[in-house]
Amino acid sequence: MATPQENLIDWLRDAHAMEQQAEQMLRAQSKRLEHYPQLKARIDQHVEETLDQQKLIDDCLARLGGSSSTIKDMTGRLMAFGQAVGGTLMSDEVVKGAMAGYVFENVEIAAYTVLIAAARAAGDTETLAACEQILPQEIEMADWLLQHLPEITQAFLIRSEDPNLEAKR
Ligand code: MG
Ligand code: FE
Repeated sequence: MATPQENLIDWLRDAHAMEQQAEQMLRAQSKRLEHYPQLKARIDQHVEETLDQQKLIDDCLARLGGSSSTIKDMTGRLMAFGQAVGGTLMSDEVVKGAMAGYVFENVEIAAYTVLIAAARAAGDTETLAACEQILPQEIEMADWLLQHLPEITQAFLIRSEDPNLEAKR
């Protein structure tokens, strides 16, 4: 058994690892994008938001006396690296990347929804406030990706048809 606060600390550690993975994935995507400036700019904006989120989660963990899990963080980074490397082998990497980004943001939305409920149950108003600040940023990023998937796809298809243009990134 475990107290609400113990579970909360575990989930904050998970969130910390998730945000490390998010940073790695977003940076890898942004670095490779050349012909999709709007997508690249939105990803760069979310890298900055992700760094703020890491700081907020770090502060929550420090206050609760639980350090972040280095092993989980390392695993997350390795997974992000694997995904980034895997993505570059695909001829439609921009489309697959935007799809993967949308999936990842929705995982984050679910994680912060759980954290908000857990912070409430544990009576931890600071963690509650931090997670309520982060959640809308994940929702906005997910919404942006979903809204822009059609035009990213269209731009990719047009470039893909032209033998003189590179389409994948
Ligand atoms: Mg995030
Ligand atoms: Fe995010």
